[in-house]
Amino acid sequence: EAKRNGRQQFRFFSPEMNKRAHARLIMEENLRSATEREDFRLVYQPQVYLDSGKLRGFEALLRWDRQGEEILPGDFVPLLEETRLINRVGQWVMRKGIRQCHDWKSLFGEELILSLNVSPVQFISDSLLNNLSQLLREQDLKPGQLELEVTEGTLMQDLDHSCAMLEKLRQLGVRVAIDDFGTGYSSLAYLRHFEIDTLKIDHLFISNMLVSPRDAAVVSTILELGRNLGMEVIAEGVESMAQRDWLIEHGCQIMQGYLVSPVVGPELAGGFPRQTDWAAKG
Ligand code: C2E
Ligand code: MG
Ligand code: MG
Ligand code: MG
Repeated sequence: EAKRNGRQQFRFFSPEMNKRAHARLIMEENLRSATEREDFRLVYQPQVYLDSGKLRGFEALLRWDRQGEEILPGDFVPLLEETRLINRVGQWVMRKGIRQCHDWKSLFGEELILSLNVSPVQFISDSLLNNLSQLLREQDLKPGQLELEVTEGTLMQDLDHSCAMLEKLRQLGVRVAIDDFGTGYSSLAYLRHFEIDTLKIDHLFISNMLVSPRDAAVVSTILELGRNLGMEVIAEGVESMAQRDWLIEHGCQIMQGYLVSPVVGPELAGGFPRQTDWAAKG
């Protein structure tokens, strides 16, 4: 087929486009073998309660070790999704994360929350729930220690499916957070129907809120929405004390970002204090 269309292809694709298609093919091939060999790592970033300074838990973030070079999710997760390899890698993430959380029981207790990012492809797949409940049973982990992060786009791709899925996750006892909240097609109508535990305010709003009154308005509106609907709100990408102070003043409960800690490997994360100094004072 490719050969038969060879001449046509030559006509329609510039050498530049061929080069790009070729690079993509190689990347896809590399990702396939990486998936087979499980050449991935999870790194962790702490989340801290702003009222008490207590550690809430960690978000697990995926890294690809490509021949010793660390590749960030933005550079390979989209291709994993296109090729559906994300289903397998996502399952690896769940297994690895759940095991890590289990291993941390003696250090952090059973209140620690581990947040895992779930791609739209995984969320729509039938195997997610089965995999999850099996892993939880195998590792003997309290389901409430797990939080799945999905985006607004993920929830909006099929509303009926999302409703059913969220209901089943609730029955399972797993928490659900909306990631990058405010950047998707938010609709207050669907938030009413979905039972969501946590809203994560996208870091773009946080990084702009002290210079842009509009971004500040978005952040305080999300905080109020969370209060009124009984959801926790996490500020993502908090980098400065001034941002932290503003968030405390506006009633934000939890923060995550470079101010507290960059993403770190499991060993460093294990040494993170259960009680920090980040709490509101006075
Ligand atoms: P996200 O879930 O919104 O993750 C937050 C991103 O912000 C992370 O980037 C994190 O390293 C970065 N970050 C943390 N603190 C700060 C800060 O103070 N300032 C700024 N500017 N950035 C901060 P990362 O690790 O590159 O991940 C990017 C995205 O890739 C994630 O966004 C998530 O959507 C996706 N991702 C990560 N891990 C997984 C995974 O296991 N599965 C899936 N499907 N997607 C993942
Ligand atoms: Mg996330
Ligand atoms: Mg986010
Ligand atoms: Mg993001």
